Amino acid sequence: MGLRFYNTLTQQVEDFHPQHDNEVRMYTCGPTVYNFVHIGNLRTFTFQDILRRWLQARGYQLNHVMNITDVDDKILRNAAKEGKSLKEYTDPYTAAFLEDTGKLRLQRPERMVKATEHIDEMVAAIQTLEQKGFTYTSEGSTYFRISKFPSYGKLSHLDFSGIKDGARVDNDEYDKDSARDFVLWKARKENETFSWDTPIGDGRPGWHIECSAMAMKYLGETLDIHAGGIDLTFPHHENEIAQSEGITGKPFARYWLHSEHLNIDMQKMSKSLGNFYTLRDLVQMGYTADQLRYLLASVPYRKKLNFTLDGLIAAKSSIQRLRDYKLRLDTGKFADGLSEELTKRTAKARDAFDASLDDDLNTAEALAAIFEFVRETNVLMDAGNFPAGNTAAAQELLARFDTVFDVLNPDAVEGGLSDSEIDSQIVARTAAKKARNFAEADRIRKELDEAGIILEDTKEGVRWKRK
Ligand code: AMP
Ligand code: ZN
Repeated sequence: MGLRFYNTLTQQVEDFHPQHDNEVRMYTCGPTVYNFVHIGNLRTFTFQDILRRWLQARGYQLNHVMNITDVDDKILRNAAKEGKSLKEYTDPYTAAFLEDTGKLRLQRPERMVKATEHIDEMVAAIQTLEQKGFTYTSEGSTYFRISKFPSYGKLSHLDFSGIKDGARVDNDEYDKDSARDFVLWKARKENETFSWDTPIGDGRPGWHIECSAMAMKYLGETLDIHAGGIDLTFPHHENEIAQSEGITGKPFARYWLHSEHLNIDMQKMSKSLGNFYTLRDLVQMGYTADQLRYLLASVPYRKKLNFTLDGLIAAKSSIQRLRDYKLRLDTGKFADGLSEELTKRTAKARDAFDASLDDDLNTAEALAAIFEFVRETNVLMDAGNFPAGNTAAAQELLARFDTVFDVLNPDAVEGGLSDSEIDSQIVARTAAKKARNFAEADRIRKELDEAGIILEDTKEGVRWKRK
């Protein structure tokens, strides 16, 4: 069986095939940059990173667009209050988002696009909807009339047939009980500081039109994958479908993937409830980004994850086990030879790892396949029954694991030496030894030791690890 995903649209697990050869056109809703992201948000972005990496491992070429929502009610309010321009207010949070996701080793999408740089495209999209009869205006604002789009509700599987035609909602975020015609363009109110003067009036875009306009600009009328947190299913993604399909008459996205929430004390982690941690909070408490990455990645994305600090501690010991195992494989002394049986066992672990991720990204099963293999082969090594000829395949298995999970290399220590600085110190030490300058070689070893780096001289060269 090949790669398959649960599609919110059809409520089925479906085989995955992109439209064009091996190219995957993917759009994910990015952060609203009015504050630092919390680790609930980061769960969703980590899921998207795992998705990217597994698609790549399966030979697909990604064309992934993520938006940065740098205009919305909260941003406008806060920027005006602080006497800043929108850019002055949002830029630091955009930078913080990139820094946090970088620390979590999340791959950057091929393109990241800002809402405020696409106002023209949004206006054009609204004008097309206007021409096609999907909109009406009231007090200078433009609304999408959902009764004109009969399949409204097909993503969230909600029934909106009883909704009163013409009842409106101006908020970007609302629940199904307040589902109404939604706003595409909000007229500027008298006391508001920020607005855009456009052919459809002086005002600003609603949140939903942003994603339709930018997704279609960069990825075409039909996306392969659209992903986001489960709370975006309604109204945001439902509205994106209504707008985009209203404009093109074609399916907007073929596979809709939604990740479950990160909870804390069994409640959704959210800014409004105040029950959140940021990555920065955790780092200050002494935890590391790789611990968080491991924890977030280890629970399959469609399962709720109840966050605890104990979970981070457990993540640390799991990561350490894998690193120790890798070091043992890389530096251990094994007897010559090759075991056919072990070759088969390694292939079986790899198949189980691949099959688990193919199965709607079942990361828990994939990890189980790796840990089972590690446990069994550690026992063989202890007993002297692990032949040297089997190390390469085991190393490859770990490398495959790490292309997805990416936790085997330690985080660079804040203010400490980076991996490449350490590598160049080691090159200098080896050169010193070759030149029989042992005092210099010892000095470098001592300096690295003080920086928390342990060197091990092996047959294949020098290996290092952080203490
Ligand atoms: P926002 O910046 O609020 O637009 O959210 C960015 C992303 O984080 C969206 O995809 C949300 O669905 C997601 N998100 C928000 N809260 C959580 C949570 N507690 N757990 C998982 N994802 C979340
Ligand atoms: Zn969106």
